[in-house]
Amino acid sequence: MIRTRFAPSPTGYLHLGGARTALFSWAYARRHGGRFLLRIEDTDTERSTAASTQAILDAMTWLGLDYDEGPFFQMQRLDRYRAVVEQLLASGHAYPCYASKEELDSLREQQRARGEKPRYDGRWRPENAKGKVPPPGVKPVIRFRNPDDGVVEWDDLVKGPIRFANAELDDLVILRADGVPTYNLGVVVDDWDMDCNHVLRGDDHVNNTPRQINIFRALGAELPRFGHIPMILGADGERLSKRHGAVSVMQYPEDGYLPEALNNYLARLGWSHGDAEIFSLAQLRDWFDLAHVNRSPAQFDPVKLLWLNAHWLKQASDDRLAQLVAPRLAAVGFDTARGPALDTVVALYKERSETVVHLTEAVGIFYHRPPVPQALRDAQYSRESTVPLNALASRLQSVAWTAADIGATIKAVAAEHGVKMPKVAMPLRAMLTGQAQSPAIDAICALLGRDETLARIDAERPHWPQ
Ligand code: GLU
Repeated sequence: MIRTRFAPSPTGYLHLGGARTALFSWAYARRHGGRFLLRIEDTDTERSTAASTQAILDAMTWLGLDYDEGPFFQMQRLDRYRAVVEQLLASGHAYPCYASKEELDSLREQQRARGEKPRYDGRWRPENAKGKVPPPGVKPVIRFRNPDDGVVEWDDLVKGPIRFANAELDDLVILRADGVPTYNLGVVVDDWDMDCNHVLRGDDHVNNTPRQINIFRALGAELPRFGHIPMILGADGERLSKRHGAVSVMQYPEDGYLPEALNNYLARLGWSHGDAEIFSLAQLRDWFDLAHVNRSPAQFDPVKLLWLNAHWLKQASDDRLAQLVAPRLAAVGFDTARGPALDTVVALYKERSETVVHLTEAVGIFYHRPPVPQALRDAQYSRESTVPLNALASRLQSVAWTAADIGATIKAVAAEHGVKMPKVAMPLRAMLTGQAQSPAIDAICALLGRDETLARIDAERPHWPQ
């Protein structure tokens, strides 16, 4: 059975690259009827925070990426890592190293001065440390004894064959002096224990993989398959970062995006299924394969994301959108209990909104009386309109209050006064919405209700030219 995992470090918010890794790992497991695990890699105790962990969990929930096992927390598994380190020490695959920071810094300096790549020189390898007395009071780190010769190769599920010479790898620290494992040890022990047989992650980890493979081998553990997903770049070709705008996943709901849109966008970013551009999580689950993950980096395109959001907003039910809009209106002090039912208003506007934020701004006019800008008055109110508008206002007092009847009345009034329809409809729109554009004005009247429609007209009457 295929088992994948998402293993973020809670050292910051979940960014788009992380979310895409999670999405691909989730989709791969689901597609193959496998299992998907969530593991929080919190061994960087200085940079890990509870808030970041929460942001990751929130983002997974918001995106709808359900996991079958976890969340596991590495800091709750310290005993297990230490036991594995004991095993590696006993088998000669690891050894204590007492080199001080100063010593290692100066080693690095010397290597640089000689034009060499800085690397640990194996000074505390048992054969080099014979007769050396460990400095008193120093707790050693534990290093993995990397093989000196040969190559490490794997057939990457995304990038194809990759190989590293062992000569390029040095003896990495696997356990810090305080007994906390480093990433490369924790990840191997966990992928082994949790039986993660397909490891999909960002290609910033390609350099770690040969080290991890060597540790797997030293433990006699079966190797997972690895797939490294190219990173996401900003429009300027640089790696996506804060400079490129909202990159925290949880900023997107804040900014009025729907999870369908972000999932759709992220899935399509670096993966393709024929020429399909729009697909749901369920379709991704049915279609996802690694053969169609791009080998080159993908470029983030906020305009396309917005376009997808507009699409998914149209698909969303009025009820759901009303629930997203209601707290936003309440936050700016609008009482949605006084005014038309929010779902009916949302229905009228969702076709023309790109985000929930736009939608909220648009429907606000039903719950407070919008000011009419003077420039709009100047543009829309004219002597030609004043007489038909007066006539319309009195006719609206008795017409049946449906969009169809209201629309017919506006038409009839315009015809009776020999003016084109917009001469009546446009100033009416300005009075009711404070805007030059809106959905059909008869539909707006119908939703606003007779009293409020007439009240808004009356409030603007003093501005009509006589
Ligand atoms: N914890 C690592 C990170 O957040 C990911 C490790 C992995 O997927 O192997 O970059």
